[in-house]
Amino acid sequence: LQGLRNKIVTDGTFPDFPKPGILFRDVFAITRDPESHRTLNEIFDYYSKKAIERGIQAVVAIDARGFLFGPVLALKIGVPFVPVRKRGKLPGNVRSVAYSLEYGEAVMEIQEGSIQQGFKVLVVDDLLATGGSLRAACELITKSGGVVHECLVVLELLDLKGRNLISAPVTSLLQF
Ligand code: IMP
Repeated sequence: LQGLRNKIVTDGTFPDFPKPGILFRDVFAITRDPESHRTLNEIFDYYSKKAIERGIQAVVAIDARGFLFGPVLALKIGVPFVPVRKRGKLPGNVRSVAYSLEYGEAVMEIQEGSIQQGFKVLVVDDLLATGGSLRAACELITKSGGVVHECLVVLELLDLKGRNLISAPVTSLLQF
């Protein structure tokens, strides 16, 4: 894990992106480097074995960088992968939830019928900042009849205390 953290520090830290004052952490610093990417995959192997033991029955990931990791975990665990996406991107009937961004609001959606009733769900994203996105995803799952059992993020920005918004346990692999 220390090696992965160093990768983020050396190749994945961008001051003043996307706007002045924001220190952006870029998870693609890991995927760009095959050795780091393989290490992350091995961590996912271990996490998935434990998730199988805990009885995880579906994986949900958040548009867009959550999609780098959610499907991999779903395959390893052997359960459905279900996307949560920004408004207007998912076909068919959808359930929506509004959530607040730093400035203004956004809407996330999940397809109706995509979560089986009572299923224990693992929610995945690349990065936890204020927690608004993850909380919106959790709300969509609960409203769909699923049970949010746990959340997994690769990166967590500790100062923003996003995990306080989430009632399920949150695991982060790297903290900043
Ligand atoms: P939150 O809703 O404030 O927790 O923000 C988390 C979402 O915004 C995640 O889906 C991230 O992909 C994205 N995000 C916020 N800050 C960063 C960052 O520093 N690097 C990469 N993504 C970020």
